[in-house]
Parts: sequence; structure tokens; C-alpha cells
Amino acid sequence: MCKTSFHKILIANRGEIAVRIIRACREMGIKTVAVYSEADRNALHTLLADESVCIGKAQASDSYLNMERLVSATIATKADAIHPGFGFLSENAKFVEMCEKCNITFIGPSSELIHKMGNKSEARRTMMEAGVSVVPGTKEPVFDAEKGKEIADVMGYPVIVKASSGGGGKGMRIVHSSEEFIQNFNTAQRESVNAFADDTMYIEKYIVSPRHIEFQILADKHGNVVHLGERDCSVQRRHQKLLEESPSVAIQPELRRKMGEQAVLAARAVHYQNAGTIEFLLDKNGDFYFMEMNTRIQVEHPVTEMVTGIDLIKEQIRIAEGRELSFTQEDVRISGHAMECRINAEDPDKNFMPCPGRIAELHIPGGNGVRIDTALYQDYDIPPYYDSMLMKVIVHGQNRMEAINKMRSVLGEIIIDGVTTNLDFQYEIINNPDFNEGNISTHFIQDAFDMSE
Ligand code: ADP
Repeated sequence: MCKTSFHKILIANRGEIAVRIIRACREMGIKTVAVYSEADRNALHTLLADESVCIGKAQASDSYLNMERLVSATIATKADAIHPGFGFLSENAKFVEMCEKCNITFIGPSSELIHKMGNKSEARRTMMEAGVSVVPGTKEPVFDAEKGKEIADVMGYPVIVKASSGGGGKGMRIVHSSEEFIQNFNTAQRESVNAFADDTMYIEKYIVSPRHIEFQILADKHGNVVHLGERDCSVQRRHQKLLEESPSVAIQPELRRKMGEQAVLAARAVHYQNAGTIEFLLDKNGDFYFMEMNTRIQVEHPVTEMVTGIDLIKEQIRIAEGRELSFTQEDVRISGHAMECRINAEDPDKNFMPCPGRIAELHIPGGNGVRIDTALYQDYDIPPYYDSMLMKVIVHGQNRMEAINKMRSVLGEIIIDGVTTNLDFQYEIINNPDFNEGNISTHFIQDAFDMSE
């Protein structure tokens, strides 16, 4: 297996993750190329990289999603590799194929693997065949509502109908009874056709009040696969994560070992390479089920970095260079407790409507075990075209209580004036007695804040 050393990496992303990747490259002595849209001329990633290339108009479809321009920019700047970050083209098999054809290293798995795992119903089948416990449900894809209903009637309600190409909570409906099935199936399928141009659906048993537990995987090109423990991402609003932590209070060493083994088995089954995440649902009885695999770095990767001391972006780069992992499963130690709050420019009082605008005043706290990942700066004008996430507040404490106390203190100190944010909402979560006791499930937000699904 040949090893290369990258001289220059193009970052096909924007916002805090682009900044995070630029910093990792800088620490490794690798030059960086930022790409930016016309709306991002003054964005931090554009200013911070060694070189910056404008790749088009503000709309993501004209810039950050424009594959030809990204590849041209990579060739023109003589970059060796592309880091896709998350979102945008990070899980787009066609883009990865284009990189492969142009001899550009994509920092992530192969196009074939992304294609395979991106099709969630196929991923389920692959995992079932590999002996991984998946959420009970269909093995073959379902296209027809009537057929789906027959299956769900036998399976027993509640069930969840999901789009095979789904992501970000789209194309998904919970169905509580046979009478509701057809309508819900059709709505989810329509949503999937609109968002993903795909009518392939599958059906799972709906697990009542589970936890969302995911395992971080690193796999090199030499067949070494390790897991870096779990993240508990049960605090979600409308299936979107809001707060993540590691370790999970629900996981004792024996269960961690079992789930970790299954996560590694899942990654090995598909000859996985680079960083990936295996998502499970964990029910009240301690039974757990594979849900899906994410073939990229995750928003919430810093909590794993804080408890393991391993820099996941640097590891991704080293793996793409063809290097062997420098540690084994036995070397991985989980130390203390880390927690991340996502701060979004959105208004909780107006159904979490996005609120872009100019940052009139900004104060970013620091301190022992405090990490703030953001691309904000004073007087920055947040463009309305992209994701509303402004900042990730990450803390590390010796134990969960210390992490909670630290998070409370940090959230109380942050000042982001000029735009409405969910800071107060996160503060309320941190102060919630059930949250403090670790008594959470994916229904926590709904129940604690009396919200509908
Ligand atoms: P997406 O890729 O759109 O985020 P996922 O399949 O990862 O969709 O599911 C997102 C969330 O939806 C999960 O974290 C969980 O809260 C909920 N969910 C998904 N499948 C089930 C299920 N079978 N039972 C209960 N909750 C589920």
C-alpha cells in the first residue's frame, strides 16, 4: 500500500467545519485551499486558508454543490486531496467517483461504499447478512403503499416508514395504526421524491422511547478497525440532534464492549475505510439495533475527541494518506465526560425559524476544558443561504456533573447579539432535572418542552 504525504488540501465546505479542517491541516504542515461562494467572500474560512477560490453564486447548488467547479478548483490549485467536511457533497457517491477519475484523493471512503451505505434499505440488508442486529423491519425495499400496509399489519404497530435515501429527518413518518398507514406512507414517499428524487422506502418497527447511541469508527487502508466509544445523541428536536455527550450514562462497560464489537463488525462487513459512525437505537431493556451508517465526519465529533484525546480530522487525513492507525483498540481510553451544545441562529418562539443577520456583539468564553468551534467574528454578516448552526460549545469535565456545571457556566457567559439564537433553549435543557439525572430518550425534548413530534 503506497503512502503519500499531502502538501495541499482543498476544503469543499464552509462554516465552522471548514475552519476546523484548516486548523488541523495547519498543525500538520499541510497548505489549505478554501472555496467560497459570492456570499462568503468575508467568511472566516475564506480569510483563514492559504488560498481561496470563488466557486460561484450564493445558492449552494451554484457553489458548494457544484462538483465540476470543485474539481476544477482542486486541479487549478494543484491540491492533492479534498476534505468534504459534513453535509454538502460529503456523502455524494457521484462526486467521489468524479474525484477518483481525476486522481484526486477524497478524504473519506470510496464512491462504491458511499453508494452502498447511502441506500439505507440496502445498508440494512448488508448488515443483517453480516450478523449485525438491525431494527426489526423489511429486508427488501418497499415502493407501494398497499404492499407496505400488508407488511406493517403483520409487523404490528407502531412502525416507522423511512425513505431509503433519507437524511436530516426527511422522508420519515411514524404510523400508529393500520388506518393511518396509507396516508403516512404516501406523504413520506412524496417528501422523499421531492428531496432525494427517490421513491424507495422501507419500514421499521418503531422503538418506543429509545436512546440514540452512535459509535465512532476509524478504519485504515490496512484492515485495522477501531471504535472510539459512543456518543449519546438522544436530545433531538424533530429527529435533529441538539446536544450530544460521551460517554452515555446508559452504557456500562459490558454493553459498550458488545455495542463496540457490533460497530466494528459492521465496519468490517463493508471493508470500511476512514472515519465513520454506526448509529444504533438502544431500548429500555438494553437491546440495541443498527439504524444506519454515516460515511463522513459528524457535527458532534468533538465530544469523542475530548474524551479520547484523538484528533479525528488529523486521523482522517493520515488514513487517506495510506498510513496505518498508530493505536489499537486496547490503546483507546475514555477519560472524563464531554458534552456539546449546538447553537443555532433560530427562534425557538417562532417554531425555530432561522434568523440570519449581523453579529453586533460577540463574546466567546474560554477556560479549562472549554472548546468553542465557530466561524463567527464580530460584525460578521450571517448569510441566509446556508445551515443555521453558528457555534458548537463543547466542554470536558472529570464526570458528567462537572461537564453540566461547566456547560451551564459557559452558556451563561456567551454573548451573541444581533441575531436570535437557541442559547436560552439550550440553557433550559442543561437545567432540566431529568436531563441532569441522565433520564433522557429521543422523546425528551418533546416531553420536557411540551412540543409536538
Ligand atoms: P436521518 O438519517 O434522517 O437522521 P435516522 O434513520 O438517522 O434518520 O433517524 C433519525 C432519528 O429518528 C433517530 O435518531 C431516532 O430519534 C428516530 N428514529 C429513527 N428510526 C426509529 C425507530 N425505528 N424507532 C424509533 N425512533 C426512530
